Amino acid sequence: MTDANTTTLIEDATPPAEGPDGALRLLDVDGAPPGTFGELEPASPPLIDGEGRVRLSFSRVDAYDNCPRRFRYAYVDKLPGKPGPHLSFGTSIHAALEDFYDRKLPACPSEEDLLGFLYARWDSSGFAALPRQEQLAFYRHAQDVLRRFHRRVAPSYRLPAATEAWFELPIGFEATVVGSIDRVDVDDDGRFHVVDYKTNRKVKNRERVAGSLQLAIYALACRHLFGVLPATVSLDFVVPGVMITVPLEDLDLEAARDVVLATAAAVREERYEPTPNRLCDWCDFRALCPAWEGGAPDELLGPAVEEAQRLRRRLEREVRTLRELEAGVARIADELATDDRPPAHR
Ligand code: SF4
Repeated sequence: MTDANTTTLIEDATPPAEGPDGALRLLDVDGAPPGTFGELEPASPPLIDGEGRVRLSFSRVDAYDNCPRRFRYAYVDKLPGKPGPHLSFGTSIHAALEDFYDRKLPACPSEEDLLGFLYARWDSSGFAALPRQEQLAFYRHAQDVLRRFHRRVAPSYRLPAATEAWFELPIGFEATVVGSIDRVDVDDDGRFHVVDYKTNRKVKNRERVAGSLQLAIYALACRHLFGVLPATVSLDFVVPGVMITVPLEDLDLEAARDVVLATAAAVREERYEPTPNRLCDWCDFRALCPAWEGGAPDELLGPAVEEAQRLRRRLEREVRTLRELEAGVARIADELATDDRPPAHR
């Protein structure tokens, strides 16, 4: 998920600060006090804000826990990662389910509607390197997953309290955790239930779900957003079609806060040691990593250089198009200037 929701930019009398890319986001329009336009902030907020709070998310904390050096490459150096098919598959399923629940009417959308949402929201960026047949196989698999999801939830469908609920949760004075909760349901007794979708094949057991840092953070975020802790939290493994639900009492919210604060402290101290692990083979930054010296020289260029080359190729294409347009405009201007027919015959 992204770090900020996108809404319409409204002009303010005071010129707002701009991010490195000059883009601005308007956050929390609905929550803004009357007569104001909400908060503007750069599209790429700094890792440590003006008050010294480290801006984290569950994925950032998880990335740091997995390997601090990888965290540094991704979030401090902001090197681009390569989009992969599994990431795009997950993004597409999440987006289709967001549309499925983000409705004004209480009636359950049809299976056809749900497949239409998938079609409209299919993220093809991670499949570009795959042959057409493999791309189609991923798409058909996503359709099957959503058909099964529809069969499972349609009989008890009800509108949730929120989908993709964006939060910015302060943890002490040291950190802000941002993110969005896939779905928040409210039952007939007014109790809240947090649901997060997972698109991996393997289902976690109940104990691991209860120990999920992500769900503990979401429980705290639910209180931050709605003023009340949820009664339950769930991971919905949509590929096998199994939802594991645990009651709030099984979560350790204090431990989750401690993990966030420890990560914030390590980031502030710039502790970014490489930690080789079983995920190194899939790490986008392995060619740069001091723990894996000796890669081929072109490999050592890394994803940042690949991205720069891609941008250069695009720029060259656009400059060529611009030159052709300019030449066309100049040609037509010349013709008009030398056209000596009377205006009525032109
Ligand atoms: S290759 Fe392994 S040790 Fe190096 S940054 Fe990536 S995950 Fe960390």
